[in-house]
Amino acid sequence: MNRGLPAVAIVGRPNVGKSTFFNRIIGERLAIVEDVPGVTRDRNFALTDWAGRKFYAIDTGGLDTDTEDPMAVAVRDQVLAAFKEADLIVFVVDGKVGPAPVDYRIAELLRKAELPVLLVVNKVDRLPLDLAHHEFWEMGLGEPLPVSSISGKGSGDILDAIVERLPPVPVEPANENDLYIAVIGKPNVGKSSFVNRLLNEDRMLVSNVPGTTRDSIDTPFLYHGKNLVFIDTAGLRRQAKIEPGLEYYSALRSERSIERADVCLLLIDSTEEPHVQDLKIAEKAWHAGRSLIIVANKWDLVEKETNSAKEYVEKMRGRAPTLRHVPVMFTSALTGQRVHNVLDLVLEVAEERNKRISTHEVTEVVRELATRQPPPHYRGMPVKFLYATQADTSPPTFVLFANYPKAIEEGYTRYIQNQMREHWPFQGTPIRLRLRGRREEK
Ligand code: GDP
Ligand code: GDP
Repeated sequence: MNRGLPAVAIVGRPNVGKSTFFNRIIGERLAIVEDVPGVTRDRNFALTDWAGRKFYAIDTGGLDTDTEDPMAVAVRDQVLAAFKEADLIVFVVDGKVGPAPVDYRIAELLRKAELPVLLVVNKVDRLPLDLAHHEFWEMGLGEPLPVSSISGKGSGDILDAIVERLPPVPVEPANENDLYIAVIGKPNVGKSSFVNRLLNEDRMLVSNVPGTTRDSIDTPFLYHGKNLVFIDTAGLRRQAKIEPGLEYYSALRSERSIERADVCLLLIDSTEEPHVQDLKIAEKAWHAGRSLIIVANKWDLVEKETNSAKEYVEKMRGRAPTLRHVPVMFTSALTGQRVHNVLDLVLEVAEERNKRISTHEVTEVVRELATRQPPPHYRGMPVKFLYATQADTSPPTFVLFANYPKAIEEGYTRYIQNQMREHWPFQGTPIRLRLRGRREEK
């Protein structure tokens, strides 16, 4: 099973210091912590790494647990959601207060989990003299590990323990020709409807490869002889069950899917203005080197005038210039309108993504561009391109060799990059440019 980089969920009752611990392990001193239970957090997950292993840390705090019995709903939901979405659970308790009745109830849930659980006793501020953590052996969750999240004492040992318990780095079955597709976007835009519409209609075409069992998380799908693999379809379908207040799991899922994708389908709701969250996800996919298609869904609900689609696209690109090279398709997962056309577009974009241009042609184009608009001189010397080559595909990566590579500024490389697209559009795909000096040639 491969859902992308592993995720570690930090659970526990309010006020034990989950958020402080979260900030500590993602390496930021200033926690957004207040002495009020249930303060809303800025963000709920962050990518971090320790001893060379990358993982997501999830702060499940920030729930409004104003009720008399904090276990009532919120904490329980939080723990159950973590079971579905995480690879490891860190259960934080309060060493100053000692075991609380709610802790026993959480522990009971956790003992049933099929996931590894780490019991962390926070607020043990006077290590090694403090022995408060030993009281928590009776939780029945193994060795309680002490930490003082405020000072950071003990956090290294806990990070070691976390990394030890992460699942092994998964090896993607090496089939170079498989095309990995991530369907990403905010909750409620129609991601699971879209995927269901695509995959259920052509049930017969779902290929029968090993691992396509009921509980496999991806869905392979044969289309025009190409094996498309839809990433984490299990997660998309599960999404409907995400409780209010836990929507950040949807963002986390998008991020984890982007890591594994060749092409991302960013679904947005065309009845609404593009949301800043949509644009953030788009940027993330683009900067991660993924190809991107925007699927403006729920088009059946939009009152159409002659130019509504065009205007919609222009408005969106005005807000996020990166999207200039990203195709947009208007669909309805409800009626099925253009849902399959998206697949045709995926194949086109994938072809562009893998396109290779000859060194001769690249050199020619770059020289021509430099002649038309030469780079500024460097200490009175003209800056020249010796030659240029496409070093890689997926995403297309070009290396430009110049006499003074360090003198070439970002504005100029952007000019080259944009002009290159006039020759080779690389629809929906980011292009990377690197500059090298003549001595660095291989
Ligand atoms: P959460 O509700 O579980 O996320 O808890 P917070 O991170 O918001 O912390 C609750 C309170 O505990 C805050 O006042 C923190 O300053 C305090 N706190 C967190 N970690 C420690 C610690 O290691 N030692 C001490 N003494 N206080 C802590
Ligand atoms: P997800 O959270 O992004 O997976 O969104 P869902 O697929 O669960 O859809 C959210 C809601 O929008 C559901 O009520 C769907 O029936 C509805 N919906 C999804 N796609 C469309 C569409 O193209 N047109 C209309 N009218 N409704 C849609």
